[in-house]
Amino acid sequence: MPRVSPLEVYRNLPGTNCGECGEGTCMAFASALIERRRSYGDCKPLVSEERYAEKLERLIALVTPPVKEVMVGTGERACVLGGEEVMYRHELTFFNPTAVFVDVSDDMDEEEIASRVKAVESFGMERMGQVLRLQGIAIRAKSGDDTRFGSAVMTVAESSLPYMLCSTEPEMLEVGVEVAPERRPLVYAATEDNLKEVAELAASHSLPVAASAASPEKLLELVAELRQRGVEDIVLDPGTAPPGRGLGRCLENMVVLRRLAIERGERLAGYPIMGTPMVAWLGEEDEVRAAMRECIIASAQLLRHADLLVMHSLEMFSLLPLLTLRQNIYTDPRVPIQVDAKLYEIGKPDENSPVLLTTNFALTYYTVASDIEAGKVNCYLLVVDTEGLAVEPAMAGAKLTGSVVKEALQNSGVDRKVKHRKLIIPGMAARISGEIEDATGWKVIVGPVDSSRIPAFIQEKWSPNGQG
Ligand code: SF4
Repeated sequence: MPRVSPLEVYRNLPGTNCGECGEGTCMAFASALIERRRSYGDCKPLVSEERYAEKLERLIALVTPPVKEVMVGTGERACVLGGEEVMYRHELTFFNPTAVFVDVSDDMDEEEIASRVKAVESFGMERMGQVLRLQGIAIRAKSGDDTRFGSAVMTVAESSLPYMLCSTEPEMLEVGVEVAPERRPLVYAATEDNLKEVAELAASHSLPVAASAASPEKLLELVAELRQRGVEDIVLDPGTAPPGRGLGRCLENMVVLRRLAIERGERLAGYPIMGTPMVAWLGEEDEVRAAMRECIIASAQLLRHADLLVMHSLEMFSLLPLLTLRQNIYTDPRVPIQVDAKLYEIGKPDENSPVLLTTNFALTYYTVASDIEAGKVNCYLLVVDTEGLAVEPAMAGAKLTGSVVKEALQNSGVDRKVKHRKLIIPGMAARISGEIEDATGWKVIVGPVDSSRIPAFIQEKWSPNGQG
């Protein structure tokens, strides 16, 4: 359930249904505000007319998320952390996917830093029609040499990526900030020992700061002091420990902080949370084991509300599971990821090529299409609009029926592209094969349940003229 109901929001709108916001009614605008498709500024009468000042104030308080949005970086690659409304995705949706930063340190030579930055900047893996990316760089001051640190920051600042400056020494952080404060780096970290100096540095440039402490209570104290000293954008670091050395407690602390923010309305806890799974590398000589453990810690933290993760490994086997998990969690559960329902040509199909059918649920489509492409099958793939449902739920919800397939076939124009009238349907749709045949007049062939078997199935069974 959303934290605020449309009715509560509606009560604080002008209620004139003037339509200036682009929505038909104030109630429709209230729903759009809750879903963040609109912002309160889109209601021009509300923000411009003095008589609505009290309503505006109440509305802002209502729709401001309990977890503040904090922006790191600038430009197209800037990332927004936090901004969440609910504890669990199914209650509404999560809004800002967890940012994944990769570290460099100032004891690396310039070439290595530049190469890691380039790898992060260009990283992209397409899955279900979306490109999975990494978000930024964490620059660690390890050498103790401020010249080296400044030079490492300069190398990173040449890229378009957001970055964070990592040191507990205020002087070192100042060197890093001064390289390019306008790039809005995240300053990491304010601790009990350096809070005053770090707060002054961040406040003077309006930069976000990560506060670090091992207990939620201590973190809230640090946040209160940072706020008193003029820091508005804060990220919470409750610490990360490797498995067997306190990881469980760290994960619990993340959940405690998020519960305080969302369920208790504790403003001091209402900030993005970060984790540093790269601790998996501490004292670990086996690089494969370290990278795998890092992925496990990161995944556990992602599931416990982490809004920012700092990784070391650039290995695909470590990053890909994490980015896939993130994609699954941060898709809107109310809107299945869909592809366009239409006729796709795969390879170079001709008038004798098979016509296969699938649904427009993105995961189904991309799995089927990539299996067909991998098998070098030339064919037509008819994607039916099932409102983003996979085959079985689409049949259960009457979104994949004989008449739906008939309409899809007619709209696609495939009957003008092939000479035969044969349609291969997914094995899971076998029980509606007769219904499709009756509705369309096409001969229906039940294909394999597993799409990876389609190429072998076509090779063995397909014949445009015969019985197959
Ligand atoms: S602009 Fe404001 S008053 Fe007009 S319909 Fe939209 S929400 Fe209602």
